[in-house]
Amino acid sequence: MSSSPFFEIDGMNVYYDRVRAIDDVSITVDRGEIVSVIGPNGAGKTTMLNAISGVLDYDGTVRFNGNELSDLSEREIVEYGVIHCSEDRDLFPFFTVHENLLMGAHLQGEAETRQRLEYVYDLFPRLNERREQEANTMSGGEQQMLAIGRALMSDPELLMLDEPTQGLAPIIIDDISDAMEELRSEGLSILLAEQNSSFAMRHAERLYLLETGTIELSGTADEFKNNEYVRDAYIGVT
Ligand code: ATP
Repeated sequence: MSSSPFFEIDGMNVYYDRVRAIDDVSITVDRGEIVSVIGPNGAGKTTMLNAISGVLDYDGTVRFNGNELSDLSEREIVEYGVIHCSEDRDLFPFFTVHENLLMGAHLQGEAETRQRLEYVYDLFPRLNERREQEANTMSGGEQQMLAIGRALMSDPELLMLDEPTQGLAPIIIDDISDAMEELRSEGLSILLAEQNSSFAMRHAERLYLLETGTIELSGTADEFKNNEYVRDAYIGVT
């Protein structure tokens, strides 16, 4: 008997008008696994995540934990625990750090919200130091931590991160890296879309290479690191 994967995209196609941005993409994520989709600008990473979270229509199937997500609303998908931390972060600029985090806990009860706040402040001590600071006054790296922190407030089953290192200085990427490793040690399942292939290979157990909407390669982090094409085209690209 074959059991179905924890998370699975099967034959996804996404169109903008008649232009196909995602072309027959199939990927899986096992429970507790970090899987990354890498690829250059415009490859379709954001489009794929937006389709999974119900923002864009698509052909094909997305299954999560035995449920088909394809016909569900954005809210229902969030209720299943599939949480998307988007590339543009979507923070409330004039809300404080604390208020932004509370917005991520709208489905939680009071006790769980308190516990999640403690958890996020522990993961990102910088956010704890800046609880009362408005989001729009924070650095790009701090805003990224806040966006991830807010996504974690809902205690996700699958966290989808879209380019968490984009535009960040190496020293801040190190902080995000530490958080990724902490999340890995806790067994959180993560689907990471990244252009920064070094970061992706550092944290993901398995990767997919997406180019112009098509999966061109899949394999373990070691297979990717040793692949000549990946090495030539992507390693060192941040
Ligand atoms: P980036 O790293 O720049 O965010 P990406 O891999 O996330 O790139 P997408 O943003 O998903 O790529 O874009 C995939 C393709 O779809 C690109 O050719 C892009 O121009 C196109 N596209 C994205 N959004 C739209 C839109 N709203 N309307 C039309 N075409 C779009």
